[in-house]
Amino acid sequence: MKIAILARNPNLYSHKRLVEAAEKRGHETQIIDTLKVYINIASHRPQIRYKGEILEGFDAVIPRIGASITFYGTAVLRQFEVQGVYPLNESVAISRSRDKLRSLQLLSRRGLGLPVTAFASATTEADDVIDQVGGPPVIIKLLEGTQGVGVVLADTRGAARSMIQAFGGLNAHILVQEFIKEAHGEDIRCLVVGGKVVAAMKRKGAEGDFRSNLHRGGQATAVRITPEERSTAVRAAKVMGLNVAGVDMLRSNHGSVIMEVNSSPGLEGVESATGTDVAEKIIMFLEKNARPNRTGTKGR
Ligand code: ADP
Ligand code: GLU
Repeated sequence: MKIAILARNPNLYSHKRLVEAAEKRGHETQIIDTLKVYINIASHRPQIRYKGEILEGFDAVIPRIGASITFYGTAVLRQFEVQGVYPLNESVAISRSRDKLRSLQLLSRRGLGLPVTAFASATTEADDVIDQVGGPPVIIKLLEGTQGVGVVLADTRGAARSMIQAFGGLNAHILVQEFIKEAHGEDIRCLVVGGKVVAAMKRKGAEGDFRSNLHRGGQATAVRITPEERSTAVRAAKVMGLNVAGVDMLRSNHGSVIMEVNSSPGLEGVESATGTDVAEKIIMFLEKNARPNRTGTKGR
């Protein structure tokens, strides 16, 4: 196969591993800096162009689109889909997963367990919002945040009220969530590839931090997940329409609940914690599924 990897930085661990795994299995890869792609759509033969040349002849495209370039990145990916190139994850599914609120709405509609959550914008009813999720302590999340930045713990009603008012004053959309204290600053990341959990790790936050993000100094170890967690992760990826997903869960007193579903999960933490060659599983998934015009939506 000839595989395009849409990624801004070719030196990131995950991107290098995907190239390595693909080449090991006899495929050709090209890393393409997403923001440098330009497109000619106003012709009967649309072209995807890069550095003065036409990008063509690809069997599959692996989108590694950072949250900050979701809009342009999904547009570029969509153009590959329109032309029939098989995407590891579809543009529509990526856009869906980047919208935290939309994701939670979809997951809850399918009955998947979530932390008790309220969302609000510039509300004057801060106290009612706090009560709706069971009272303080509560977690408040900026909808636009990633990697744990923009997630705060409000211990008291007063703190929660003033944070909700402050974010409201900035016209920021927020989620207010029950604080799952019993998770002890740990979460579970399940790597789903093609409807199967291929690896799972537990992440523990840095001392004194309730956030377990590896980018915030968290530590990862392999973890044995329950059959329920396995099926929840697989169902979550399916609801989001993602072939490859990192499903983050918290172990709460009312079962494991989904925090979020990532469409470009990092491979470094999970591969080193579990010893699983996740990159190879991803390439093998493409070998099985990448056929011309097999995209579900064709970018619609
Ligand atoms: P981001 O998308 O920015 O990573 P998350 O929603 O994943 O934000 O939250 C970051 C971290 O904060 C999580 O990994 C988890 O450890 C912790 N956390 C998030 N929500 C809760 C919650 N409701 N209760 C307890 N801890 C939480
Ligand atoms: N790539 C990182 C991970 O999978 C961060 C993803 C994100 O926060 O959207 O852990």
